[in-house]
Amino acid sequence: MYLKHMRPEQIRAAIARDLAVIVPIGCVECHGYHLPVGCDTLIVEEVARRVAARIDCVVAPTVDYGPTGYDVSGPELGTMDVAPEELLAYARGMLRGLLRLGFRRIVVWVFHQGDRGPLATTFHLAGTRLVEELMCRERGEGWWGAAKPVAGDRTFGVIEVRSVVHPKSTPPAGGDHAGLNETSYMLAACGPHVDMGALRADGPWYTLHEGDLSRDGTAARGELMFEAMAAAWAEELAPAAKA
Ligand SMILES: [Zn+2]
Repeated sequence: MYLKHMRPEQIRAAIARDLAVIVPIGCVECHGYHLPVGCDTLIVEEVARRVAARIDCVVAPTVDYGPTGYDVSGPELGTMDVAPEELLAYARGMLRGLLRLGFRRIVVWVFHQGDRGPLATTFHLAGTRLVEELMCRERGEGWWGAAKPVAGDRTFGVIEVRSVVHPKSTPPAGGDHAGLNETSYMLAACGPHVDMGALRADGPWYTLHEGDLSRDGTAARGELMFEAMAAAWAEELAPAAKA
């Protein structure tokens, strides 16, 4: 279910079932001449779509703008940059909103620069601060020292920031920048937006990386990687019991 499509009673029911909420995050960044600039977000959204088709869960609206540092290109090739400190307040506000709705299993998914890059760490900081605030409010200050956690306590899992490449999905799933893997993801998820004929013999270098050539990307490879990720996440996030 997509949060944007849900009515109030459906949201209440999802919260009552403690359904997982997936929050796709990403950025707008050049991925060579052959791939769309939304590549990293599109990958996360495609995994979310496949997981939502397998299990009951909620997919929150995507956060499309994120830090790139202009590491890969400048704006002349389509890259945008929102600095971590500019994003932090928004991330906090948005995650706080999901907590206030009542969700207690929020999983932020990132592909861009993995789970330790500037984008992910911004959401890590926002999430961990919010969980502290929540626990102080619900259990009182000193909450962590007050009582030994009981089995099944998911306090620190209320908000998680994770690489969408689930550990159980790799291999075959993997990353790169606009190379074999990302080209394959895009061919599988949004082929009409890929132009393999736009690949150039003079680079950028990351499209010509030996053993990771963009031109070797295939929709079949992308499909395999997406299915591995979707299966691993569906297993982890499946609700405990049907209502
Ligand atoms: Zn990418």
